[in-house]
Amino acid sequence: MQRYNVHESQQPVRDLVAEFGEKEIKPVFIDLDRRPEPQVLPKEYYRKLAKAGFIGFSMPKEYGGGGRSALEYATLIEELAWWDAPTSLLTAVPQLAVYPIIHFGNEDQKKKYIPKAASGELLPAFALTEENAGSDAANQSTMALPDGPNFVINGKKHFIMHGDYCDFCVLFCKIGPEEEGKRAKISAIMVDANTPGFKGETLLYKMGMRAA
Ligand SMILES: Cc1cc2nc3c(=O)[nH]c(=O)nc-3n(C[C@H](O)[C@H](O)[C@H](O)COP(=O)(O)OP(=O)(O)OC[C@H]3O[C@@H](n4cnc5c(N)ncnc54)[C@H](O)[C@@H]3O)c2cc1C
Repeated sequence: MQRYNVHESQQPVRDLVAEFGEKEIKPVFIDLDRRPEPQVLPKEYYRKLAKAGFIGFSMPKEYGGGGRSALEYATLIEELAWWDAPTSLLTAVPQLAVYPIIHFGNEDQKKKYIPKAASGELLPAFALTEENAGSDAANQSTMALPDGPNFVINGKKHFIMHGDYCDFCVLFCKIGPEEEGKRAKISAIMVDANTPGFKGETLLYKMGMRAA
């Protein structure tokens, strides 16, 4: 769809989404919203988003992503949201989750997780919010305690997109005992979903964004 653009790189992104929207979003978005509970991740649909290059859009090219600019990425999400809001969320959150790995992960983590996240093979989650840490995100009560080369993490997150289905998450917490009670200090730890003790729950009867 032709819209006001601040840069010439935006219109090709809108055109790409328009083509995808006609073919892949329009025929299914109402049905996806009205599936019976439990409304889990629509895997086939997610794979189509990945195959179109949307999931890896902003991830670096050297790790299998599209290497697109922040403006192109924002345009992608805006345009997908015009077609269907849950589709924009399905596309944005994996990229949000991979962002800390791109910027702060080590080379092994980048090679292991980014290409498979970009291709849709692995589903990432961004685990920040807690019952008492929403807008006030610094009020984390999840605590990681060093245990030899590992951490033992205790805590409960909620509203985490794909928390029930993810393959790994970037989990925000405090490192005890040093960071306990210090608002400024929040750490992020990569957690594989098959780590013993990791448990996800599917949120039922959501008010909206049911396909995401
Ligand atoms: C569809 C969806 C997907 C999400 N996915 C994720 C995810 O993948 N990962 C993740 O970590 N989180 C996720 N979240 C959680 C989201 O980040 C939180 O909902 C958000 O941070 C707000 O926190 P809260 O819901 O606890 O609301 P609260 O922080 O309790 O806010 C409730 C209301 O109070 C207002 N308010 C809060 N503080 C103040 C203040 N000091 N002064 C005045 N007003 C105030 C807010 O504006 C809001 O209207 C998701 C949420 C939604 C809705």
